[in-house]
Amino acid sequence: MKLETSHMRYLTAEDFNVLEGTERGSANHEIVPTPLIYKLSTMMKSQGGTNRTISDLAKLNLITKVRNAKYDGYKLTYKGMDYLALRTLLANDIIYSIGAIFGVGKESDIYKVSTITGETRVMKLHRLGRTSFQTVKNNRDYLKKNDLMGTNWMYLSKIAAGKEYEFLSILYENGFNVPQPFFVTRHALVMELIDGFPMRNLRRHNFKNRSLDKLYTDLMNFIVKLAKNGLIHCDYNEFNIMIKNNVDKDDIDELGFIVIDFPQAISIDHKDAEYYFKRDVDCIKRFFKKKLKYVPNRDESWLDESGFGEGYKYPYPIFHRDIKERVNDLDAQLNASGFNKKHPSEVNKEMEGYLINLRGEKAEIYTSDDEEDYSDSDYEQHTDDSEESSDYYSSDDGYESESDDENERIIEALSSGVEGLKMDKMGNYILE
Ligand code: ADP
Ligand code: MG
Repeated sequence: MKLETSHMRYLTAEDFNVLEGTERGSANHEIVPTPLIYKLSTMMKSQGGTNRTISDLAKLNLITKVRNAKYDGYKLTYKGMDYLALRTLLANDIIYSIGAIFGVGKESDIYKVSTITGETRVMKLHRLGRTSFQTVKNNRDYLKKNDLMGTNWMYLSKIAAGKEYEFLSILYENGFNVPQPFFVTRHALVMELIDGFPMRNLRRHNFKNRSLDKLYTDLMNFIVKLAKNGLIHCDYNEFNIMIKNNVDKDDIDELGFIVIDFPQAISIDHKDAEYYFKRDVDCIKRFFKKKLKYVPNRDESWLDESGFGEGYKYPYPIFHRDIKERVNDLDAQLNASGFNKKHPSEVNKEMEGYLINLRGEKAEIYTSDDEEDYSDSDYEQHTDDSEESSDYYSSDDGYESESDDENERIIEALSSGVEGLKMDKMGNYILE
């Protein structure tokens, strides 16, 4: 979905007041009854004036009229939520102007924005629901169990942005190499722009062997350090690891990296923690082996347990062996998913259903007593489940399919409230 801001500057304070009123009403009404909009649009003096504003907003597709069995009302559209988020960002001097879109993630659009002092930042607009359609198609049986029917994607996008902001904040404060977060409002998160490129664009000829060893070890150490602090990323792969551009172009031995994309992270107390941990490790192993033709050498005489890979006792970390002692409880501090599983609120349940889907849930819990052996069969065996990892559905992989197109149209329809959007028995959206 495009970020279309052309009308933004023509909107009056009254327009925004009614837009906000509709937004407030959405908190407990799927379709906000018109009288409730009157009530919540505090600035508006007359119903006639409010009605005119409502119809202006509907014309601009910021809200959309919906009828249900009992009453007529309005729904905020994605575009309406974009406008509200942008207005808040502008009003709080978080951003000054919006630049080009430069990334389309599996569940988000990424824009360059600039501050009043001319710094460039990144704005991530969460747009949930996109790839879930894909997953729905790929994994019908699974979704019967985790019914996404009637999921309020806009609402969940807000929760995802909030979660990501919380994750980034606590990780940044604790010295992890993640982008510095600046602000979150609704589904929009503003963070530091990483001067770099996704690891998926790295090729072997890009660097010397020594830096490969080091990058591999550093990436594995990151997973371990994160887990010892209480968290598992759950989508730790070459799309979500940014390689920093070197300040010194000749110094290719220092490949710094930054880890992004956190909303689906979980606690190490999550019941499937071991599985997700292994999958994150496997993603790195697979990328290094397949794309970089790199498998760390082994030597019996290496006994150093302070890292993984070449020169160290173990080639890669294993959850039950390497994550014994905690050094921190960031998960508890965050109340990360899986931590407070005894009393999940309704919100958490709905979000959890979605996040399970986003993580690319497995069929069964991985239970093998993993061998230290870095054998090929072990490696290949888990290639497939790593492919489940959600960023593998990413369209920036140059992967386009008919169903992607259809998903795009469905998302468009969802956000603009086009009629003829139905759901089948399985919970798939279908366009008539
Ligand atoms: P999604 O959850 O949709 O996968 P990501 O957070 O992974 O979204 O972002 C999508 C892409 O946008 C990334 O692969 C990366 O190329 C780019 N990107 C995201 N955040 C930043 C950032 N802070 N700095 C630079 N590029 C970024
Ligand atoms: Mg991503």
